[in-house]
Amino acid sequence: MQITGEPKQRELTSGEFGAYVDQEITIHGAIHSIRMMSDFAFVIIRTARETVQCVYAESFSDYRLAQNVVENASVKVTGLVVAGADKEGNVRYELQIHNIEVLSVPAELPPVVINKKQMQCDLNTKIDYRAVTLRNPKERAIFKIQEGIQRGFREYLTKQGFTEVHTPKINFAGAEGGTNVFSLDYFGKKVFLAQSPQLYKQMLVPVYERVFEIAPVFRAEHHDTSRHLNEYISMDFEMGFIDSFADIMNMETGVLKYIMELLKTEYREEVDLLKAEIPEITTIPCIKFADAKEMCVRKLKHITDMKDFEPEEEAFLGKWAKQQYNSDFLFVTHYKSIKRPFYTMDDPENPEETLSFDLLFRGIEITSGGQRIHDYQMQVEKMRKLGMDPDQFETYLMLHKYGAPPHGGLGLGLERLTMHLLGFKNVREASMFPRDINRVTP
Ligand code: ATP
Ligand code: MG
Repeated sequence: MQITGEPKQRELTSGEFGAYVDQEITIHGAIHSIRMMSDFAFVIIRTARETVQCVYAESFSDYRLAQNVVENASVKVTGLVVAGADKEGNVRYELQIHNIEVLSVPAELPPVVINKKQMQCDLNTKIDYRAVTLRNPKERAIFKIQEGIQRGFREYLTKQGFTEVHTPKINFAGAEGGTNVFSLDYFGKKVFLAQSPQLYKQMLVPVYERVFEIAPVFRAEHHDTSRHLNEYISMDFEMGFIDSFADIMNMETGVLKYIMELLKTEYREEVDLLKAEIPEITTIPCIKFADAKEMCVRKLKHITDMKDFEPEEEAFLGKWAKQQYNSDFLFVTHYKSIKRPFYTMDDPENPEETLSFDLLFRGIEITSGGQRIHDYQMQVEKMRKLGMDPDQFETYLMLHKYGAPPHGGLGLGLERLTMHLLGFKNVREASMFPRDINRVTP
């Protein structure tokens, strides 16, 4: 065996077939479906990102469809590229089959039908058979879009001078404490799974000034809701030398614009397949929490919690932003201090409120962010006021003790964003292998 160091070439996409019209090429993939017609057959090959139409007819060559050319067999298809047109009159290329080499044959038929446009099973079944159901073109498009979101986040922030980091997920103390942290036994010690990279990303601000992380976080949510997972991907960033927390909201606006543009260009096929409505973003409107609350109380009945929003209120605010500003997004700012974590900077003009925000997308929270405390005394005092023991946070407080610039950041839930972009009712649709109160497999 000789290792040349040359990467194996990727497969041609059908968009590139144009350069090979009337020539023979070979592609590989899985048999997605075979549709027998009277004197020919459509053999649809599922390649890495699309399905390619191949046509079998006895007139094309001496090759005859073998018994083992079955759905989900892995094959290499050799054929002549011919140009045709789709229903809308766009040029589409197909292959006239000259040969099919079968590389592998499945042991059984798939447990659910995956080669119809829409999966016809319920969400639970779909997740039970994920290894198979993800092969359905629409299902896999969801996670290709999710790749695009992460890629957009990463590309934009990298261009803005951010450093990508990875912080530990096994920690001695829970970042924000509370009831929703998982604990586990670590060689006889009790440790926690990270519910957020918060404390670590802050520690990295005096190091790199701007950092981001895309990684799983763990929340021991005890409820079975349509918008909570127990493990989800958090897209976080933190930046130093901010003038105000508006800097963070502007950065997020820029990130989202970039992501949407990337989806519209480089993920067009998936966007079209899923009929995703990609939002147009110019600027994102802002409203103060207190004003938003007042409006909710006026418009909706039974509002009891004056310190936070019910899902019903978020939905109402989403509609309001759409009507008032034609915006799918709304920043809500200045949340109550008692409702925000210990590291949140209170508003010096009104200490009951914080320099923080949430971003609502189509009426549901997808981001929380804000300015953090950078002064050591201020942080220690706030911890004490909240009944926390600063000694437990010695490493974290080194950030403040040894000097930190004014800074802030945010956390954006990848599955939540995907869910609302694609119009799903359940966040599990936007999670490849969801972890929830009832599920840790597959
Ligand atoms: P919520 O109030 O919706 O439960 P939260 O305020 O507890 O969320 P944050 O700690 O602010 O959540 O997390 C930041 C973002 O992470 C949220 O805006 C959301 O997009 C996402 N997120 C939080 N919890 C979950 C979860 N359990 N499952 C999926 N995404 C989540
Ligand atoms: Mg939040």
